[in-house]
Amino acid sequence: MQKTTDQHNIILIGIDTLRADHLGCYGYHRPTSPAIDALAKESVLFENCFSQAPITAPSFMSIMTSRYPTYHGVVSNIGGTGRGGRMYVLDQNIPTMAEILKKEGYVTGAFTDGGNLYGKLGFDRGFEYYSMNLKYEFQMPGIIPKDEIFKWLESNSSKKFYLFFHTFAVHNPWAVPNKYLKIFDHNYNGKLLVSQLLMDKLKRPGRSPRVPFLEIVDKEDKKDIDYLKAIYDSAVRYVDDFVGELLAFLEKLKIDKNTIIVFTADHGEEFLEHGILGHKQFYNELLHVPLIIKAPGFKEFVKINDEIQSIDIMPTVLDLLNIRNIAPIHGMSLISPRSRDNEPITLAEAQGLGYAIRYKKYKYIFPAYKSYKVREDELYDLEKDPSENNNIALQNLDIVEEMLCRREHELYSRVTLPHPRRKIIYLEHPFT
Ligand SMILES: [Zn+2]
Repeated sequence: MQKTTDQHNIILIGIDTLRADHLGCYGYHRPTSPAIDALAKESVLFENCFSQAPITAPSFMSIMTSRYPTYHGVVSNIGGTGRGGRMYVLDQNIPTMAEILKKEGYVTGAFTDGGNLYGKLGFDRGFEYYSMNLKYEFQMPGIIPKDEIFKWLESNSSKKFYLFFHTFAVHNPWAVPNKYLKIFDHNYNGKLLVSQLLMDKLKRPGRSPRVPFLEIVDKEDKKDIDYLKAIYDSAVRYVDDFVGELLAFLEKLKIDKNTIIVFTADHGEEFLEHGILGHKQFYNELLHVPLIIKAPGFKEFVKINDEIQSIDIMPTVLDLLNIRNIAPIHGMSLISPRSRDNEPITLAEAQGLGYAIRYKKYKYIFPAYKSYKVREDELYDLEKDPSENNNIALQNLDIVEEMLCRREHELYSRVTLPHPRRKIIYLEHPFT
């Protein structure tokens, strides 16, 4: 990838809950992503990008600040693993990518679904316009507000801008438009009549449709699980259609040639690969996220299989724009020589859930969310056991020790950063 000038726009597309391996360009068997695949053909595709958390707020804040969750302080979702409206808020002294770009003269706008991207957590810092599609806790994921986005783009197309787009469309319960719900499973006639179920839940104000939705699934019934995957894939296709329209709109505005596109996700989704539905564990289906970067001047379809992290996105964007002199961060530009190339390590963590370390061919997981009786160190040899099913920790305590030391070094020694000032706010209803 070559560096460019500061006359380029940035669009960061962050799809909530999109696992990399359900996209065609990452080898998926269903046609979930023709537009994203076409984008990838003009882009650099990172085959091994890992997010910093399997949940929304810590992961996206790591993308926005290029810091591990411990060092940006937004270590859990709203309410954390408990109840109530407690929110961790980003330390005022930590700059976000939007703040940096705004200082550099970029017009900044964000179109999010809200929820755990609630602006007051610090996500709205640096954005002149910060839209949250969901107004209430546990409201259904909304339809993508494309008219609002296109209007903003049209009115700012003559300036240099930074646009951040986020959607929960791929997050359960996958309330995408009806025409998408059966495109990958026409014949399903099992227990889950999804669209009816969703409508019933929606009629109960104040109740989360998400938890009962997953509870009603018969985990023993392969048909149910297959259908969940089919509607998940339908939601991916819905998002893909929007991405196609967005890219076409950039062409129409004649700004496609000077707009950098970064396409990624905050975490994936588990379909019982490791015993549960949803996302709170640290296995690859949760941490392996897509990362596709289209930068002007870079036309070829290049795949890079280095292990990299979500925190590398911000320094890469700033590097592409020749923006220097930023405060120390954990991430490293993907286009400049990298000091850790010989020993790449990737880390993920979330308060109450645990943490994971990838180093060389090993992955260590400390699953804090499990009860004390079943919790144990987990170590996997990813070359022999890429699906992470054969825990070899007890036979390899020396490797476990090495992994823990590497994590300490990465978190506390490689980059010297002050710990964030812990800031918490409580709201009775966090989304109003
Ligand atoms: Zn998320």
